[in-house]
Amino acid sequence: MLNNQGRPTAAGNAEPAAPETFTGNKALQVEEALLFEIGRVDVTGVDIEDVELGANRLGGLARKGDIGLVGLSEPETMRHYVRLSQKNYGIDTGLFPLGSCTMKHNPRLNEKMARLAGFADVHPLQPQSSVQGAIALMQELARYLMVLTGTRAVTLSPKAGAHGELAGMMAIKAAIEAKGEAATRKTVLVPESAHGTNPATAALIGFEVKTVPAQKDGTVHVEDVKALLGPDVAAIMLTNPNTCGIFEPQVVEIAAAIHDAGGYFYCDGANFNAIVGKARPGDLGIDAMHINLHKTFSTPHGGGGPGAGPVVLSDRLAPFAPLPFIREADGKLELVEAKGEGDQAFGRVTAFHGQMGMFVRALTYMLSHGSDGMKQASEDAVLSANYIRAGLSDLMSVPFPDHPSMHEALFDDAWLKDTGVTTLDFAKAMIDEGYHPMTMYFPLVVHGAMLIEPTESESRASLDLFIMSLRDLAMRAKRGETERFANAPFHAPRRRLDETRAARNPILKWTPREPVAKAAE
Ligand SMILES: *Cc1c(COP(=O)(O)O)cnc(C)c1O
Repeated sequence: MLNNQGRPTAAGNAEPAAPETFTGNKALQVEEALLFEIGRVDVTGVDIEDVELGANRLGGLARKGDIGLVGLSEPETMRHYVRLSQKNYGIDTGLFPLGSCTMKHNPRLNEKMARLAGFADVHPLQPQSSVQGAIALMQELARYLMVLTGTRAVTLSPKAGAHGELAGMMAIKAAIEAKGEAATRKTVLVPESAHGTNPATAALIGFEVKTVPAQKDGTVHVEDVKALLGPDVAAIMLTNPNTCGIFEPQVVEIAAAIHDAGGYFYCDGANFNAIVGKARPGDLGIDAMHINLHKTFSTPHGGGGPGAGPVVLSDRLAPFAPLPFIREADGKLELVEAKGEGDQAFGRVTAFHGQMGMFVRALTYMLSHGSDGMKQASEDAVLSANYIRAGLSDLMSVPFPDHPSMHEALFDDAWLKDTGVTTLDFAKAMIDEGYHPMTMYFPLVVHGAMLIEPTESESRASLDLFIMSLRDLAMRAKRGETERFANAPFHAPRRRLDETRAARNPILKWTPREPVAKAAE
């Protein structure tokens, strides 16, 4: 049981330890067991007479035993899920500084538009003549994405950033095959600082991954890329702005070098939110880039909904884009689903056309912001990150002080040396302060990394409170208040978990407890 003896209290204001409660609940924070533990299989929450079934047409597939579901009433079921939802922390609850993930506010207008019947209630197998408006919306979103990135083709169907990486790299692979170079171009260059999905994507479709070393200043140098280039190189996968939150200063030279060597430039566009309206990746020489609509264009993610990872493509790769794509003929829009027109398409990456609801939300975000608003959102995101960096850098160490930050501020753990406090401990103490921790230990090139991305959503007051809270914790760590960190979180419904064991040995299935009589045998 959690009790908060030993909880640090403000000086001169020592509180008595909190009593343990009979229920185990803490004030209105109600503990919640599993449905199977709350309910019983031999009772039912509804009162319907048994139905007399006709002939069984299941051909031997009928269930043989009881299904084992518990019977609960509507209020019991309701409370269960509402209590669980209250244990969740989200962007609607508070600042969510998870670097690289871009947890920005999801405007409610997006939700309203996504629920319009013409978008929410359509079926992907409906005749296309009856969903012209929905296809027009996809076409409009595609146009915005091409304008913002300075490219001339986009495939909307991938369902996440990583899925977009796969689609983009498969287009690159198809282009290489079409040139008859499949046997030689088998290497993909990936910088050390890359997100794990980059090398995983390349490896998944049969490329060999070679690592580009990270420079001491957190950027990728063109000379390091050139040293690895040769007739075997299919592509480079480079993130820009990179995972250290720095705009790659030599990105144009790197693009030219890979093109000169006959390879393609895949850009990981997860950090596009830092440069929308400021720079167009097409102008920088990219051949393919995924855009996480759920990061850059405010569609909900985490527990909030499915992602969408459209991929913009250069002219060189456009013919190899997957199906389906939209074509306009005789004033009508057509979603081309079969080969023919798109003979070089490498195939498809999803059953239908992608995440319609997310397309609606992203376009709503774009239209409601306008081009000036989107540019300002990028500028504000960068300003917020630099404000945090400036507010903390006298206490917490910045690994790459020579480069300004883009949309996220990166700290390492050099400042925690000899305090006995680790990055993990610091993050757990943030939970006690009511903050979701920042991204930890990523990027891997930075020791004990703490990657903070406040986004443009936060007010100055909110940023100030966050900075003051972290300053307070940082000073306590330096003063040697290790207990506060080593045992954090104190106030969360669950204390520190054995995360390694949870990851290595997850118990995903509930098994009923032995009935007392049987257990006694
Ligand atoms: C988020 C992210 C990805 C993966 O995107 P998902 O939508 O989570 O699949 C890839 N690269 C970087 C740098 C990211 O931040």
